[in-house]
Amino acid sequence: MIAEQETEPRPPAGWRPRRLLATRSALGHAHGRRVLERASALGVDIVELPGDRLNLDLPDDPRRAYVEAKATLALVVAPPSKRRLQPIAPSADWRVDLAEGCPAHCSYCYLAGSLKGPPITRVYANLDEILDGLPAYLGQGTITTRSAARAHEGTTFEASCYTDPLALEPLTGSLSAAIAWFGRWQAEAQLRFTSKFADVAPLLAIDHQGRTRMRASLNPRAFARFEGGTAPVAERIGALRRMAAAGYPIGLTIAPIIAADGWEQAYGTLIDDVAAALAAMPGLDLTVELITHRFNSGSKAVLDSWYPGSALDMTTRNRVTKRTKFGSEKQVYDAATMRLLRTFLERRIADALPAARILYWT
Ligand code: SF4
Repeated sequence: MIAEQETEPRPPAGWRPRRLLATRSALGHAHGRRVLERASALGVDIVELPGDRLNLDLPDDPRRAYVEAKATLALVVAPPSKRRLQPIAPSADWRVDLAEGCPAHCSYCYLAGSLKGPPITRVYANLDEILDGLPAYLGQGTITTRSAARAHEGTTFEASCYTDPLALEPLTGSLSAAIAWFGRWQAEAQLRFTSKFADVAPLLAIDHQGRTRMRASLNPRAFARFEGGTAPVAERIGALRRMAAAGYPIGLTIAPIIAADGWEQAYGTLIDDVAAALAAMPGLDLTVELITHRFNSGSKAVLDSWYPGSALDMTTRNRVTKRTKFGSEKQVYDAATMRLLRTFLERRIADALPAARILYWT
């Protein structure tokens, strides 16, 4: 367990896991061997496993087990079941996973509710198979493909559902390879990713053909205590600017929106900072996604065990229970709080970033 979220050390720029566990099957793929070479060159301890079973051998102490798991990268093969794409409303038509897990320590992390087991990061070695499966989904989907407002984005593939692909990029090269693959794919399709990291240097010179949209996942500087191990907000905004200058379509994922004390001023400053950074950017193609903080009993239990000292409010104050279409329940802000947040943010964005298209509020 982490005693105090605010005291969790930031990993140095460019995450380095303590060890990489490579399964035997993963090393049968060229991309897997390249990841192993990159990690080895960066000084990561390499463990080549005799088979495909991951033996994590984590300590019994929960705090040490968490720290150890977060410092572990596993190189594995995505099985066919993982390569069958799922819809991912309201972001994109389809979810495509290049990896699962994330090295950061956000005290609201949605992965706590969606990924089971110790929080290691798994990177997929069979990237070619994953990408080669995408054309079968072209022209299908219900989010951008069937939307008059978003059809121009083509069939969309979201790569940030179960990971932060930019956080892993120095070690894996998977995101660069996927961007280049979409650049070569002469089709009405788009790769999408969002990130709380900022090292975009390897992406700037890729022949992306405008078929990848990067969004910076942002919260105000004042709430940085909830986002341990991520890049400073100013660096994320700077990364977005560099990507726009390199011709990429870009976006803001303002997430999760937190109604903590001082939120109005904090989000107002954030939007002003973005506007200043993107001012006079030629040919700007900017979208905004607005996602409020939510949790369920399962994710709260996991997050409480990982970050017991976190100041993030996960009580029932200002909350109502919402039932999903799959029958599960989640705690979202009540109608009055939602209205205040939404009215403020939409107005502020319209004023400061008039060229931005807001894709959704949730
Ligand atoms: Fe979770 Fe995103 Fe934070 Fe990573 S950066 S810990 S995926 S919320």
